[in-house]
Amino acid sequence: MTSPPQRFQRSRLLAVCIASSAYVLYALLTALIDPPGPFPSAYRTPKYWGALVPLVTVIGTLIWPHRLRGIYAFSTVGYLLVAVAEIPRAVARGDMPMHLTLWLMLNVLVSYLVFGSRVGTAVNVISVVGMIVTVIGSGPVDRPNLVDWVTASLAIGTTGLLAYLLTAFIEQNLDEHREDTRRLRAARLDALTEVYGRGAAEEEFERALHTAQRTATPLSIVVTDIDHFKRVNDEHGHAAGDDVLRAFGKRLRRSVSGGGGVVGRWGGEEFIVLLPGVARTDAHAIAERLRQEVASEKVAGLPVTASFGVASYRAGQDDTATLFGRADSALYEAKRAGRNAVR
Ligand code: GH3
Ligand code: MG
Ligand code: MG
Repeated sequence: MTSPPQRFQRSRLLAVCIASSAYVLYALLTALIDPPGPFPSAYRTPKYWGALVPLVTVIGTLIWPHRLRGIYAFSTVGYLLVAVAEIPRAVARGDMPMHLTLWLMLNVLVSYLVFGSRVGTAVNVISVVGMIVTVIGSGPVDRPNLVDWVTASLAIGTTGLLAYLLTAFIEQNLDEHREDTRRLRAARLDALTEVYGRGAAEEEFERALHTAQRTATPLSIVVTDIDHFKRVNDEHGHAAGDDVLRAFGKRLRRSVSGGGGVVGRWGGEEFIVLLPGVARTDAHAIAERLRQEVASEKVAGLPVTASFGVASYRAGQDDTATLFGRADSALYEAKRAGRNAVR
């Protein structure tokens, strides 16, 4: 499933491709309907030169979709240059090219989508102010034409304003979505150890079991508990105990997450490791590796060992409670056997 930011990015790509293709099509169709004269000399006008900009834009966007902003920055500069070249010609003809206005409006709209509300506003202001300044600089302009230029400036400016409101709304929603996602993630994690908390671990366990049932794939779990953890607290203080828990959780996660393993804090100094797709023998090997990792290197500066209980899903027989029960019994066996052991 794609996230809202990904969907928005896809909409941006589409918007740029559609708007740019439309300009290329416009240049082609109008050349066919009303040829400006013999090729190529009559085509050396800003309008036809300008058609190269969207052509390059479409090709660039298709080849480097992740460079969209850079590509469209180039296009925007290109369009504004075309406008600056076209406006004095229009003023000299005593004319106001409606086409130019429409394409500038479209560019302002797409700029907001691509660059966001801030840079979009800059493009809008530059388009309108640039248009007014170029018209005045190329003047004098007679009154009926002046009305057209004023209309064009207002229409582009208003389009920009509407696009600003829409873009700002979209951006605000995307920000909220990002924040919600972050909060949701944080709420699922155990605050101390940053592995899954009990609730999320149970959810993941249910989900993993369901997948194993549905796809007839193996699933193993490892339940682990730090040995004599009470002593760590008693001898080094509760804060040192917390450090050990944090480091222990991190070590478990680093060890198994590459292979698709999921780690949760079941409570106190007891953790669960879900191993989807892993059958009994491999699960034992993984647990043994974890045991050795914990025992051989100090955990948060303290020599610590842990005991491990392994259980594997029996198709058609187990639910999470029975599977967990077997792992827990195995853990108890490991403790009874003298700790620092895998059962
Ligand atoms: P065993 O080898 O049999 O597991 O012995 P143990 O001392 O580890 O077992 P026990 O369950 O008696 O003690 C667990 C201790 O873990 C007791 C509790 O104070 C401590 N503990 C539980 N949660 C936390 C925590 O979040 N931080 C710290 N520092 N200690 C915790
Ligand atoms: Mg313990
Ligand atoms: Mg315990």
